[in-house]
Amino acid sequence: MEHGDGIWSIPVPIPDNPLGHTLVYVVDTDRGPVLVDTGWDDPASYDALAHGLTAIGTSLADVHGVLVTHHHPDHHGLSGKVREASGAWIAMHPADAAVVRRARGARPGLWLDYLAAKLAAAGAPEEHLAPLRAVRAERRAADVPGLRPALPDREIVPGERVPLAGRAVRAVWTPGHTPGHVCLFEEDGRRLFSGDHLLPGISPHIGLYEDPDDATAGDPLGDYLDSLERVARLDPAEVLPAHEHAFTGAGARVRELLDHHTARLASLRALIAEAPRTPWQLAEAMQWNRPWEQIPFPSRNIAVAEAEAHLRRLVKLGHAEPVPGSDPVAYTAA
Ligand SMILES: [Zn+2]
Ligand SMILES: [Zn+2]
Repeated sequence: MEHGDGIWSIPVPIPDNPLGHTLVYVVDTDRGPVLVDTGWDDPASYDALAHGLTAIGTSLADVHGVLVTHHHPDHHGLSGKVREASGAWIAMHPADAAVVRRARGARPGLWLDYLAAKLAAAGAPEEHLAPLRAVRAERRAADVPGLRPALPDREIVPGERVPLAGRAVRAVWTPGHTPGHVCLFEEDGRRLFSGDHLLPGISPHIGLYEDPDDATAGDPLGDYLDSLERVARLDPAEVLPAHEHAFTGAGARVRELLDHHTARLASLRALIAEAPRTPWQLAEAMQWNRPWEQIPFPSRNIAVAEAEAHLRRLVKLGHAEPVPGSDPVAYTAA
């Protein structure tokens, strides 16, 4: 789809995923096309990207650079293959580049061990942990090389213009969804490439930043809410998100998302005021788009991460506190 002024979007499918596709943006510059994100690493997705580029009169081999909004595989998955085909540079915020480096350096099984330990600490029951351990045991035997996300060549520096010949595009650091998420603000057209930070209909997942080497993991929901206000202050004329569709009215959308999280924080606080709850028990008691019993196991991991991010925020605000001596740790209203 053509967005005008040398900007196009190409829907790159995400296989077996309700999100459907990633919108990869193509920005024409004096040095050749630069992509914002690349899409999922899958042959059909690669073909869709290649055909999309041909359809707008360029090609994969012509790509000059790749700006990655964040490290998730539906955004960064094909970056390595695009670089192979074109010699393009890949730029990313250092905090997400660190996540990529860790993923590449991790011994097989580390991630599953970390997930199982984290879920146990959040109060997950044995029936939830057992299948994870089973997968872990299988993987140890097979030991197939995992996904190896591409290391970026360049850093995206917050507040500075990204190096796009003939274009004024500024990087806006918007941590929350990931620690190094960035939006890109095109100063002439006042358009904002928003990645997963600001989407017209979806509230992006906010969990704790996942770092097996760091138990503190910050306050991602607090970061996200600050980042929302940061992009609202830019007052973009149009938002070009990585999923769904382009939209206007960024300020109103930001307000909706802030209100959503304010309401969620209030309802969580009410739940822990009733009785102390572990993050797992809180996730079970929270409102989701279907009953807890019907939520598949992998989605429960996401739900409990969401509950933990909200708890972390309540603790930072002084509205919740851990119950001394509880194990797994339960939280109560403060
Ligand atoms: Zn994402
Ligand atoms: Zn995404």
